[in-house]
This record gives sequence, structure tokens and C-alpha cells, in this order.
Amino acid sequence: MIKNKKCTKCYEVKSVDLFGKDKYSGDKLTCQCKGCKAEVSRSYRANNKLTSSMNDKRCRDKEVERVIYSIKTSQGVYVGSTKAGLRRRIGQHTSNLNLNKHTNPLLQSIYNSYGLESFEFNVLERVSNDLNLITREQYWIDTYFANSLNINKAN
Ligand SMILES: [Zn+2]
Repeated sequence: MIKNKKCTKCYEVKSVDLFGKDKYSGDKLTCQCKGCKAEVSRSYRANNKLTSSMNDKRCRDKEVERVIYSIKTSQGVYVGSTKAGLRRRIGQHTSNLNLNKHTNPLLQSIYNSYGLESFEFNVLERVSNDLNLITREQYWIDTYFANSLNINKAN
């Protein structure tokens, strides 16, 4: 009977009491510790809440619009823009963060430490054409200058 096991999420070696039961696995224990499991299901729920709140008609109508948006985190603000609708863009962000391959390493590391539930997505401005999208995005990045998480300007 093993006493300690390494969690596949936080990579910490912990006592087996800190792992849940999984009758289908070789050692009858879950591969992630209870703490990490709870974290995963919390961010899953936060993610679902976000998706369903954006499912109502009012939000769907906004999809065709060009939008400058922010992702507020405990460590600073990420500014981005999209032509494809905020809901879809948030889906791309969260899926890349989940896969641990987001192009912004700061955002990725904050996600890894605090989870999606610590992120707050907001529309900063709606703009009328593609040219404005770039200049207005830059304006917002400059506005958040001191605590902006954007590494490349207008990415
Ligand atoms: Zn863990």
C-alpha cells in the first residue's frame, strides 16, 4: 500500500489521504490531489456560469460587433480586441489557458495560480471599424499602462 503520491497537476508529493478514490485507476486513487480537483471543478463552474450568462439574446447580439475588452486579474489588466464577438474570444482564451499554451505567459501564469474564477471579462468599448479597433485598443493599453499585462502592444 503506497503512502505518498505525486499529483499530476501541482506536482507535489502528498499523503494518499489527500487524494480522492478512483476505482478505475491502477492505485485506486485519483491522479490529482483533492485540492487540485476542487480547483478544477471550481474553474469549470466559473467557466460555465460565464458561458451561460453570455447565452442570453442581449449578449448574442453583441457578437457581430468589434469590441475592445479587458481581462481584469489580481496582477493587472489584459487588454484585447476582437472582430469575432467577445463570447467566442473568451472561449479561445479559456481553451488556450486550459491547455497551458496561451500566447501571453503572464496571463497563463496568473491563470495557473488563481484559476479562471479570478478573471473578470469586461467590454471596454465598441468600435465601428477595423482601423479604430487597433487605435482604440492601443489607447486602452496605454490607459492601463502601469498595470497592463500586455507584452506586445495590441496583441
Ligand atoms: Zn495537486
